[in-house]
Amino acid sequence: MKIAFIGLGNMGAPMATNLAQTHDITGFDTVAKPAGLTLAESAAASVKGADVVITMLPNGAILKAVADDIHPAMRKGAIHLDCSTVDVASARAVAQQAEAHDLQAVDAPVSGGIGGATNGTLTFMAGGPENAFEKVRPLFDIMGQKAVHCGPAGNGQAAKICNNMILGITMIGTCEAFALADKLGLDRQAMFDVVSTSSGYSWSMNAYCPAPGIGPQSPADNGYKPGFAAVLMLKDLRLSQQAAKDANADTPLGKAATELYELFVEAEGMGELDFSAMLPRFEKRSRS
Ligand code: NAD
Repeated sequence: MKIAFIGLGNMGAPMATNLAQTHDITGFDTVAKPAGLTLAESAAASVKGADVVITMLPNGAILKAVADDIHPAMRKGAIHLDCSTVDVASARAVAQQAEAHDLQAVDAPVSGGIGGATNGTLTFMAGGPENAFEKVRPLFDIMGQKAVHCGPAGNGQAAKICNNMILGITMIGTCEAFALADKLGLDRQAMFDVVSTSSGYSWSMNAYCPAPGIGPQSPADNGYKPGFAAVLMLKDLRLSQQAAKDANADTPLGKAATELYELFVEAEGMGELDFSAMLPRFEKRSRS
């Protein structure tokens, strides 16, 4: 398969490198020029003759600008596979535009972070036509370990932001509970042993425990170096709130989690720390 890959940042570069082991890849990025990949002079030049064009970009506005640029230059029948995390409305607009150019679009944001991108163990959640999903499945198999078809255009993004809204809420809940347990004189290891095998368990507690030295290795054991930076969690929570507004859905805890990460990242300047660094934040606070 001939593939173009646009957006060669922290995630895109290792994903493209994994694909380049078995496929003909031409990459493009306005800034990054990673070694070992064949690069084009422009986005439009990179997509010439490609069967699949993958984008891995920062947000929906940039995705739409790149789509305007590349869709007219793509071969009819080719697939635009967007793996960025963007708002549902942008994903659906890009899919509609692709169709108008006789292209197919699949939105397939990922879970698994830079480690998953490097090791080829990402999870993809995809929206778009079933036959397009099947055509790009071999690429998901190289870049990741699991791909779920979630329905029509935009549903991959919908799945991603719903998942990450739960993640933000459960991480905050886990951190506040640890901080409360400290003040009640409950040992953290005992807290972990109980909760991780009781009804309060979650991925945040069991697999990514925010308390240093407790549970499996996590960013808490490494000075809260990400991992998953708080600034990226804030991005995803904001997307959940934008989607909730557009769909008229009531998400009070999603809203509260967004406000708390906003405070943490913007007012308190902690955006580059892992999102589990909410625990040391709560430790320092008293009831307001
Ligand atoms: P990044 O900022 O490292 O990479 C984005 C790249 O896009 C940059 O290299 C930038 O130069 C390039 N770019 C910007 N505008 C461009 C344009 N017009 N044309 C071509 N290239 C352009 O970000 P990242 O961490 O690689 O994340 C990419 C996407 O993946 C984001 O949507 C992010 O939310 C999502 N994501 C990131 C992670 C993570 O852990 N980093 C995890 C899951 C999902």
